[in-house]
Amino acid sequence: MGRSDSPRSCQNCTACCDGWLRITIQGQAVYPGKKCPFSTGTGCSDYPNRPIQPCRQFDCGWLIKGSPLPDWMRPDTAKVIVLFNELVFSGIPIDVAVPVGRRIPPRALQWLKYFAERERRVLIYSEQIVANKSFTGEQSIAAFGPPELSRFMPEIIENYISKNM
Ligand code: SF4
Ligand code: SF4
Repeated sequence: MGRSDSPRSCQNCTACCDGWLRITIQGQAVYPGKKCPFSTGTGCSDYPNRPIQPCRQFDCGWLIKGSPLPDWMRPDTAKVIVLFNELVFSGIPIDVAVPVGRRIPPRALQWLKYFAERERRVLIYSEQIVANKSFTGEQSIAAFGPPELSRFMPEIIENYISKNM
């Protein structure tokens, strides 16, 4: 997916096309275990005709201009998709991190937590719930932020869930 004004390019990444974000493409739901029918695993088979929503307007946190994410955090290799500024709580920006797979690997999650603390932001992150070796479509949600905001985390999670799930 991704906008075309970025200095980075998706290269072989198709993380946002492969079911880790809940999207609908041409009326077909895309979810864990069911990727977009146009995803080849290394690109989009109908890229010139990809829809405006969600594909062309997707603000991938790694791809956006001025992204603070390092090169190694490309979503297919770091196994996390980051969406910056998804919400705001009392003036504090909230970023959302979605695993590419079951859960966000420790190195990437550590980086994101460090960033949230240093920049005084809140990070909401999720883990796919698996039962009988299959994705259930359910997720567990956690939040992390500067210590002075820790008492607000349950409220922030509740607010996120009510708007997104
Ligand atoms: S997750 Fe980001 S880098 Fe990967 S294909 Fe989507 S827009 Fe491109
Ligand atoms: S249409 Fe192409 S860019 Fe859009 S989700 Fe499907 S594979 Fe990705």
